[in-house]
Amino acid sequence: MLFAIDKALSPTKHKRRKIDDINYVVVHRTIGATIDESIAEFKKVEKFEAGWYTGGIYPYHFFLPLYGDPVQCLPLTCVAPAALRTLNQQGIHVALAGDFRKQAPGGGQLIKLKHLVTSLNNAFNGDLEIIGHTETPLAHLEGSKDPSKVCPGAYLDLNDVRLYAMLHQSNLCELAPIDGLKRAGYIV
Ligand SMILES: [Zn+2]
Repeated sequence: MLFAIDKALSPTKHKRRKIDDINYVVVHRTIGATIDESIAEFKKVEKFEAGWYTGGIYPYHFFLPLYGDPVQCLPLTCVAPAALRTLNQQGIHVALAGDFRKQAPGGGQLIKLKHLVTSLNNAFNGDLEIIGHTETPLAHLEGSKDPSKVCPGAYLDLNDVRLYAMLHQSNLCELAPIDGLKRAGYIV
């Protein structure tokens, strides 16, 4: 499972971090069925449009389209401004196309999410904590008391994802170890 980083996303605009800073995989819902649609949404910076809080910078490391394979959008050594006050610096941010407050993941998204998250966790020796955006340790700072802001939403069962990652800690190592991440372009 390898992904191309889209150079058009200009990783140079993002703050850099050390790989040792990473402790979490944070799962989000997002808009746009394809990566191109999703990027276009975040380039709209008018107030209340998706991009206004990032100034048009794409805020996630990975995007899972409705159909097809995950896309890596940023090197892991860039901080993704995923609208978290608490975990932007420490998180690998994975966004799935869809609104999981209203519907279940589609088109094989759930198993692809499980594979991606497990591969990442294994590359970090099983040390990553897998959480949803509004499950963050300081969720009270993230606006999660407002049900309209729940992310990714109850229809995406993160306990199922965590269980899968736990059960496959040793036998799904497509990306491990960290040197493999470097060769694959996850880290630059
Ligand atoms: Zn989110």
